[in-house]
Amino acid sequence: MTAGNVVFLFVLVAATGFFALNVQRLVRYLRLGYSEDRTDHPLTRIRNVLEIGIAQKKIFRDPIAGPMHALIFWGFMVLTAGTIEIVMAGVIPEFSFELILPRAVYLVYSASQDIFAALVIAAVAVALYRRLVLHPRRLEGDDLEHTDAIIILSMIAGLMVTLLLTNGFLLAADPSAFGGEKLISRMIGRAITQTMSPRSALLRYHIFWWTHALLILAFLNYLPYSKHLHVVTSLINVYFANTSGPGTRGAMRPMDLEADVEQFGASDVEHLSWKNLLDGYSCTECGRCTAACPANITGKPLSPRKIVVNTRQRLMEKAPAVTGDRMDFMRSALLHGGDDDSYASIGGDVAEHQLLGAYITDEELWACTSCRACVVECPVSIDQLDVINQLRRNLVLTESRFPSEMQPVFESLERNASPWAFDAGDRGRWAEGLRIPTMSEMAERGERPDLLFWVGCMGSFDDRAKKITVAFARIMQACGIRFAILGQEESCHGDPARRMGNEYLYQMLAKNAIETLDRYEVSTIVTHCPHCFHQIGNEFPQLGGNYEVVHHSTFIERLLEDGSIPLATAEGKRLTMAYHDSCYLGRYNDVYDAPRETLKRALPVVTLVEPPRTKDRGLCCGAGGGRMFMEERTGKRINVERTEELLATGADAIAVACPFCMTMISDGVKAAGSDVPVLDIAEVVASSLAVVSNGVHA
Ligand code: SF4
Ligand code: SF4
Repeated sequence: MTAGNVVFLFVLVAATGFFALNVQRLVRYLRLGYSEDRTDHPLTRIRNVLEIGIAQKKIFRDPIAGPMHALIFWGFMVLTAGTIEIVMAGVIPEFSFELILPRAVYLVYSASQDIFAALVIAAVAVALYRRLVLHPRRLEGDDLEHTDAIIILSMIAGLMVTLLLTNGFLLAADPSAFGGEKLISRMIGRAITQTMSPRSALLRYHIFWWTHALLILAFLNYLPYSKHLHVVTSLINVYFANTSGPGTRGAMRPMDLEADVEQFGASDVEHLSWKNLLDGYSCTECGRCTAACPANITGKPLSPRKIVVNTRQRLMEKAPAVTGDRMDFMRSALLHGGDDDSYASIGGDVAEHQLLGAYITDEELWACTSCRACVVECPVSIDQLDVINQLRRNLVLTESRFPSEMQPVFESLERNASPWAFDAGDRGRWAEGLRIPTMSEMAERGERPDLLFWVGCMGSFDDRAKKITVAFARIMQACGIRFAILGQEESCHGDPARRMGNEYLYQMLAKNAIETLDRYEVSTIVTHCPHCFHQIGNEFPQLGGNYEVVHHSTFIERLLEDGSIPLATAEGKRLTMAYHDSCYLGRYNDVYDAPRETLKRALPVVTLVEPPRTKDRGLCCGAGGGRMFMEERTGKRINVERTEELLATGADAIAVACPFCMTMISDGVKAAGSDVPVLDIAEVVASSLAVVSNGVHA
């Protein structure tokens, strides 16, 4: 061991020790959040890490920035092996992977170091060009700091350049140091040989080796203070992210209302879970979520990226004070109290403000349509919506602070078990004359239907939606399906209350609905409302209600597939139709193909056209998350934005598969002064029926 090795060993121990202290500090901060078990479904979690983390599946959703980021990530993975070799050689001069790896593997590894170093330099150059020259919209806004990104990108470029130069100077000093596999280093070495002696090259090799090694250690220790902490946390975050198996996708976090707590929902970081806080560490600030957010797109103050960044900022502000670590507190004050205006503006007194109010406003929270576009877009599987939902719960349950339009909705839900002030006795009136039995009528006769048709509040009371209800009932009758409805025994399942933060009311309504369903021993439910479909199928299991729930798009598609629906021969001129994806059907439940297939099978003369934002990238209609019941006072109306996209396809008609989307898109069509019809898929199928069972043409 040389004196240089001893010095390096000392530096290495100091640097890794400092990094370990920082990791400990960050883990301590995470413990501020409440605990939750995220160890279930280990195989799904590992698959997520492989697909989303390692293969960078979501990153490639952006065809321009995606490959660039993936290159940097993969380059980092490959070059980490080289970093280990360099660090080991700093302590044990003879160390080389050549000594332990089979020759062929070593050659591949050795060549990959050169190739990836060059590719990463190119990717960093593109990233810097985009950030400094092109200024893409999604990298701007939310008072984002660019200095940190530029420091990190420069450090990455510095690491790659010093790596290639280290190898180049070594080859210039000793051409036998590597084989021919290091093509780029060898070219650099040859160029150096033209300009200096082997002795001078050896001296520079040592200089660049040290520069490279120190840069690695500096990079490592800069990460805990940088937004690029995601380099360390993103794979961990993906592992612990929501698993998306049936029944869990998009389901809101359950809440124990019996718990003896004063705080319901979250107003500050300690009311969030450790995973919400880890999300903050993992955000790359890429802005993909905000760029997909319908509220942000239409000029509302909501930015899901800001929600996550604010959570991290508040944690970094509050945790040092709460954990009582004086060093942490001083470091936080130094880091945030100096140049950072946002910290200065909220003052140094950590106890006097909280995440809600000082960082995130009520207006931001109420702008959310719960569309899940942000969650689906995030390349590191952050759940921005979970934080929004928990903050909303606090606003309603702890602070009783919410938009005034929500009050009558809560009152109606409480009194009439419907968001609108309709008489519960009128629920089944749409079915008058259609010879559709209720569950109680069938029970009286000692009969049981094959399935229950859950109509939903819109389908029961809204005049336009009632036409969808009738159309779907006629399709089922035409197929001879034995179904029944609950009639006036049906009640709202509580989804609007839950999305608007009123978990008390939700649980009351949901338990009531479960009791009714269980009383009739219902096992299979079909519904034409994606909100009913999601709530009963995915969220009722949290309260003990377990049913097989099928959305009418899937149900009708199956009937069409097996030839059960008697269709008239399609004739007439070809028709173009644009299908609008419902968020609760698509992003919540992955149902994208069934409604499209239904349209194509029922109406062979139809040609489907897609708007630019479609399927899991489809733009929300603006009704979800309780927004249906709130005024849209800021920016452009979301339904108008979405309808303009649909109309721009030039389609002869617009198809939907959700009564909420029906209202929003129909209003959008009116606002655009257009007469393009908006039809539910059930109406399209019903209009193609040859003859329905009651003898009337649909
Ligand atoms: S759920 Fe939709 S509206 Fe809400 S923050 Fe995410 S993208 Fe925006
Ligand atoms: S939350 Fe995800 S998508 Fe949004 S900025 Fe952060 S990393 Fe990007």
